[in-house]
Amino acid sequence: STQTAIPSGPSNRRASRSVLVAYGQRKIWVGGDAPVVVQSMTNTDTANAIETAIQIRDLARAGSELVRLTVDRPEAAEAVPYIREQLDKMEVDVPLVGDFHYNGHTLLNDYPECAKALSKYRINPGNVGKGAKRDTQFAQMIEVAARYDKPVRIGVNWGSLDQALLARIMDENAGRAEPWSAQAVMYEALITSAIENAVRAEELGLGRDKIILSCKVSGVQDLIAVYRELAKRCDYPLHLGLTEAGMGSKGIVASTAALSVLLQEGIGDTIRISLTPEPGGDRTKEVIVGQEILQTMGLRKFTPMVIACPGCGRTTSTTFQELADNIQTYLREQMPEWKKTYPGVEAMNVAVMGCIVNGPGESKHANIGISLPGTGESPAAPVFVDGAKFATLRGERIVEEFQDIVLNYVKKNYSN
Ligand code: SF4
Repeated sequence: STQTAIPSGPSNRRASRSVLVAYGQRKIWVGGDAPVVVQSMTNTDTANAIETAIQIRDLARAGSELVRLTVDRPEAAEAVPYIREQLDKMEVDVPLVGDFHYNGHTLLNDYPECAKALSKYRINPGNVGKGAKRDTQFAQMIEVAARYDKPVRIGVNWGSLDQALLARIMDENAGRAEPWSAQAVMYEALITSAIENAVRAEELGLGRDKIILSCKVSGVQDLIAVYRELAKRCDYPLHLGLTEAGMGSKGIVASTAALSVLLQEGIGDTIRISLTPEPGGDRTKEVIVGQEILQTMGLRKFTPMVIACPGCGRTTSTTFQELADNIQTYLREQMPEWKKTYPGVEAMNVAVMGCIVNGPGESKHANIGISLPGTGESPAAPVFVDGAKFATLRGERIVEEFQDIVLNYVKKNYSN
């Protein structure tokens, strides 16, 4: 009989060139066979160098492999080399990407130390200038990139689409026997803007292996349609992200919906999850969501996967939620050190379950699993290690004792 193979994950990665984004010994490859890169962006005032350096450090520690920061005015450009210096002191070697709009040509030329300290430039072709000035100003930025051997992302955004180009595409469309829909014209304008500017950058002397493209929109279906087409028309690596994804669960869901469809089709070489943080909210959340999308899809491994049941009427105590949360946080906090000392530890699975209905079964499938007592069960938490009963925890110190079991398991199984 014919059997349908169960796919184990995307194996159809789109062929693209590899672009190196580097700072010192830190080398991040984007595209080709490189793993999909997680990046993020600061929301501090770049001119406030200390605050910005601290946020970059936090984002990098959370796992952001590239961090973008806006360079919007002379004070910000002046601060960039100082931010890099502060990061060096903190031993944070994450490559920095400068985000330029309107005055990038001036800032990159007037502040060479800023241009050198950045590892990549993001250029929005819709915000480069108007008329004849546009071409000159675009060329000035590309010349700086070529001079310092820096890669660029030609980052188109439909909120700031090049209006002259849009008008041209609309004129072309009007001449068609069967004109496209307004939506199709918009898609075409986004894609054309990205590709034409990339080709122009190459003509101006930027290497073929120095260009990454993005075409960000805020609708899920629009993003999927635009990137499918963009992916077909070029072999530049692609940066994926739903722009203005939104707040809270909506932002997470919309980004996940859009990105997972594209990633499953092998499209996307670096991602950024644009979440609007809640007031006082933690910026690192966008890094964690990005990692979780890639990890749950089986594309990358960042941290031991915690499997937790949702809890139900059988869950007796809040200890269960606390334990699940606590273990997740504990693992994330330990990861930077563990990754250095214990290679491969991110592949581990940990189950935290609320009762014995599914608890022991799920625990046996994980490397380590614990089931807290449910209603009517004796106050004991069986722990399984590699499928076999290992211990029964009781009392006030269940969390600490479970953490110790996890740490000992890591030391024993992942030491060189
Ligand atoms: Fe409820 Fe137990 Fe299932 Fe958790 S494992 S959802 S507590 S029945």
